Amino acid sequence: MLEFFGIPIVNTTMPEAVDWIAARAVAGDPALLAFVNPDCLNIAYVDAEYRRILLEAARVLPDGIGIHIGCRMLGVALQANVNGTDLFPQLCERAAQTGLGLFLLGARPGIAEAVASNMRAQCPGLRIDGVQDGYFDPAEEDAVIERINASDAAILLVAFGVPRQETWLARNHHRLKPPVRMGVGGLFDFYSGRIPRAPVWMREIGLEWTWRLMQEPGRMWRRYVIGNPLFLYRVWRQARGDDTS
Ligand code: UDP
Repeated sequence: MLEFFGIPIVNTTMPEAVDWIAARAVAGDPALLAFVNPDCLNIAYVDAEYRRILLEAARVLPDGIGIHIGCRMLGVALQANVNGTDLFPQLCERAAQTGLGLFLLGARPGIAEAVASNMRAQCPGLRIDGVQDGYFDPAEEDAVIERINASDAAILLVAFGVPRQETWLARNHHRLKPPVRMGVGGLFDFYSGRIPRAPVWMREIGLEWTWRLMQEPGRMWRRYVIGNPLFLYRVWRQARGDDTS
C-alpha cells in the first residue's frame, strides 16, 4: 500500500495502467484518473478540495523522480514512473487498436489540433473525436460539454494544469459522457512540439525536472526549488510516523 499524506497512489506498471484505462473506457462507468508529482502532493497538502478529489478519484498514479525518492524514504519499491506524458503514446496505440476515441481539451488555441495530427500520423487508425483549447469563455462551458458528449469519445484528456483540470472534471462529473477522464497538465504542449521535452538521457537519470526548470525558471522555481525539499521534508516526517494526513 503506497500513500503520501493519506493519499493512496497505485503502485503499478505502464502496461497495466494502459490495460486499466482501456477496460474502464469499455466498462462505461465514470472514472477520474489523476497523475501526481511532488508539486501536486504539496498542493493537496493545503488545498482541501483538490485533496478530496484525489481521495475520490478512481486512480491516482505516480509521476516522476520525486515520487520515486519519496517511496525509497518510505521503504516502498515503486514499480514504475507511470506519468501521463510517457503513458500517452502507449494509450494512443491501444486506442487505435481497439477503436476507442479520444477527446483533447486544453492548452492554447491550435495546440490540441497539432497533437491530434501528430498522433494520428504516429498511430494509424487513431480516433481523435474532438479537440478544444483551454481558454474558452466560462459562458461557453455548456457548449463545450455538449460537444465533448456528442463526440462519442471514450477517453477525455484535460490539460488545464493542476489543480484546475481536476476541479473542472469533478465539478462537471455528472454532465460528462466519456467514461475515462484524465488530467494531463502540460502534455499537449509536449506532443504538439510547442515545448521540447528533456532529452531521453536526462529523463532516464531522473533529471527531467531540471530541464523544465531551465526552460521556464520564472514559473518553475517555486515548484522545484522550494517544492521538492518541502515534499521530501513532509515524506521524512511521514516516515518517522508523524501525522501528516
Ligand atoms: N491551460 C489551459 N487553460 C488555462 C490555463 C492553462 O488550457 O486557463 C493549459 C496551458 O496552456 C498548459 C497546461 O494548461 O498547456 C498546463 O501546463 P503546466 O505545464 O502548468 O502543467 P503541469 O505542470 O501541471 O503538468
